[in-house]
Amino acid sequence: MYKIAVLPGDGIGIEIVPEAIKALQAISERFGHEFQFTEALIGGAAYDAVGHPLPESTLSTCRESDAVLLGAIGGPKWESLPVHLRPEVGALLPLRKELGLYANLRPCMLFPSLIQASTLKEEVITGVDLMVIRELTGGLYFGEKSREATADGGQKATDILSYSTYEIERIVRFAYETARKRRHKLCSVDKANVIETSRLWRETVTELAKEYPDVETSYMYVDNCSMQLIRNPRQFDVIVTENMFGDILTDEASMLTGSIGMLPSASIGGQVGVYEPSHGSAPDIAGQSKANPLATILSAAMMLRYAFSLEEEARTIELAVLKVLEEDYRTPDLMETGKKLVNTVQMGDLIKERILNS
Ligand code: NAD
Repeated sequence: MYKIAVLPGDGIGIEIVPEAIKALQAISERFGHEFQFTEALIGGAAYDAVGHPLPESTLSTCRESDAVLLGAIGGPKWESLPVHLRPEVGALLPLRKELGLYANLRPCMLFPSLIQASTLKEEVITGVDLMVIRELTGGLYFGEKSREATADGGQKATDILSYSTYEIERIVRFAYETARKRRHKLCSVDKANVIETSRLWRETVTELAKEYPDVETSYMYVDNCSMQLIRNPRQFDVIVTENMFGDILTDEASMLTGSIGMLPSASIGGQVGVYEPSHGSAPDIAGQSKANPLATILSAAMMLRYAFSLEEEARTIELAVLKVLEEDYRTPDLMETGKKLVNTVQMGDLIKERILNS
């Protein structure tokens, strides 16, 4: 039996997570596995219910599980709370830290039938298949933050950016091992021409590269990388980068797949991994059944692969997604003329049906 903590969160989180559970239940029915789902509160929903975005009981549920399925958190309702109670800072970051999730994997693969859904030209994105590995528990997001008054009556805000050799080494090593299972190419992204942590990052990669002579190592400044991702994304196999650069680059990379609603993620490194879509709670479409559940469903596939080593089952979900898209079903974010428009629940039902009957 596999124990899964389910944290739907806020906004579209509560709409997309049930669709991923549906897919997992279909897998359980088809392959005879037993999944036990335990729901817990996180984000604004948790703040409203118990006064904190990451209740201790939620952390315990996660620690006692084999994997965590997360929706998304945050929204305008909670933006004016004191910073430590805001869903992102008060829940998402501590959850990652508490569970030791230093590696965030964001595979960015274009389903061929979505070529026309992307805003980029077909010849640029055909065949895109890259993996961004983002450091997740260090850097600017976790550094000390402060405010002080200035003599001119204004304020000064500070965020500390720091990385240690140890933090860089473990994520880069992980990226090299991932590259070995793929096309043996690793691009390390930094800003070593300006930032000291980036210089340490690059030196550390250069040292580790000696241990991986079978992997082709390259280096790129983050500003160039953001341009290269839309100029020639096929040049990339594995990209490894620090926390904030990875956050920004993966939103950009999501457009190579047609929509941010297509980009899954896995956060691993500790005892229990968190599987969640790369997008946020999308307050602009929440409650309207317009959200694309596929990123979350594909995150569930990553859970099967990385947490439970159920490769065939993971592939079954991915093939179901491929099939439904080839049959021209589209949520609004992917909609084009001549395709069949479906809502969040209908998309989840189609995936379930294809899992059971493929
Ligand atoms: P967002 O990712 O929520 O939305 C950006 C745009 O993408 C919106 O137009 C939205 O409608 C669209 N979109 C996102 N997911 C979609 C889906 N599955 N299907 C169709 N369209 C989709 O980013 P944002 O608007 O910057 O942030 C909204 C809230 O989410 C904020 O409170 C932010 O802090 C939070 N957030 C949470 C996470 C997380 O929980 N991991 C990540 C990013 C942002």
